[in-house]
Amino acid sequence: MTTASALKQRFSPVAINPPDSIFGLLDEFKKDSRAGKINLSVGVYQDDTGKTPVMKAVRIAEQRMMDSDLSKNYLPIGGSAKYNDQVGRLVLGETAERADIHWATLQTPGGTMSLRIAGEVVRRVLDAKAIWMSNPTWANHPQIFEAAGLTVRQFGYLNSENTRLDFQRIVDSLQNAQPGEAILLHAVCHNPTGVDLSREQWIELNRLIQQKDLIPVFDFAYQGFGTDLIEDAFPIQHFVQTGGEALVCNSFSKNFGLYGERVGGITCVSQSEHGAKAMNSQTQAVIRTIYSNPPLHGGQIVETILSDSTLRAQWESELTEITKRISELRSTFVQTMSRFAPNHDFQFITEQRGMFSYSGLTADQVDRLKNEYAVYALRSGRINIAGINSGNLEPLCKAIANVMG
Ligand code: PMP
Repeated sequence: MTTASALKQRFSPVAINPPDSIFGLLDEFKKDSRAGKINLSVGVYQDDTGKTPVMKAVRIAEQRMMDSDLSKNYLPIGGSAKYNDQVGRLVLGETAERADIHWATLQTPGGTMSLRIAGEVVRRVLDAKAIWMSNPTWANHPQIFEAAGLTVRQFGYLNSENTRLDFQRIVDSLQNAQPGEAILLHAVCHNPTGVDLSREQWIELNRLIQQKDLIPVFDFAYQGFGTDLIEDAFPIQHFVQTGGEALVCNSFSKNFGLYGERVGGITCVSQSEHGAKAMNSQTQAVIRTIYSNPPLHGGQIVETILSDSTLRAQWESELTEITKRISELRSTFVQTMSRFAPNHDFQFITEQRGMFSYSGLTADQVDRLKNEYAVYALRSGRINIAGINSGNLEPLCKAIANVMG
């Protein structure tokens, strides 16, 4: 008999993986014992007391669910049909009602899984070899699509100060794209920069993507955080209304505040009925081997809210409040910075949208903010605007002014 000590150790030689760039920082923040620490790192909404609240509409929906006779049985592979119908209509707006456009939505565990499934589908079903994405992009994007077996190619996005869009850089980079490659597009509230394309730029980019014969994959994680639920869907609606086909990956982590419930969807939009049906069936085949079927609870919350006009109105008004508050925070931050650092212009922050901003801070300055002031941001200079509140605004702006010199 082989003794335990003689057995080959396969686990011991494995190297420890470095912490995740965003969640690792959150762990550090939690362990930091300094009073007045400020968390602008991970992308969750926080109210003026620094809490991540549960929306009223969500609480009411959960209460109703508790009071009704729901089962904990498995959902089908693609999730709840009613959920999928409502979600497709939400992400596609009036385009969902057009007889000449065909779509199928499948419920997924959050936006991340929706993106991973999209990656698998474009590689395995559509035979794409590479996916284009902006540089910078959300830190998880490249690794999600690499894990799905795609080569990641990047297009330039910002001007040399890292504060505003350089549209020509996008166009120039995409000259190298090959037909049949995929392209990942942040439909609204670009993460990490907060810098979005204008309507005119989307129209031009759409033309280029169609001319280059690329497969658009929209990441729609912030619907409602830009202008409103309808306007934010413009790039997607425009692409499919001009003859294009697309995958749309949406998340309800932010706009329903359902982060930990893992709720999202993948919508395949086609110009033919067969295209939508075929993509639906192929996507389900991919899902079956990865997570089999989606979790129940969070989807039921969204379904309950979207199918009840009063609850839906309640949710929309709460979402509007959040978006309004973030926009006000941007202005207040810029005004306060102009008091503490009058030589630095932060006006671009009011032009950016959504929870995140590229602040223009360098990695060294971000390190100093953490070490000297217990202010946590990403080393790229990304700050979560929703982490600012009336209690931390002044100390934050003073700290930023100090490290900028
Ligand atoms: N895409 C972007 C751009 C995101 O910022 C996030 C979340 N930070 C996601 C997708 C993933 O969302 P989820 O938490 O629902 O997986």
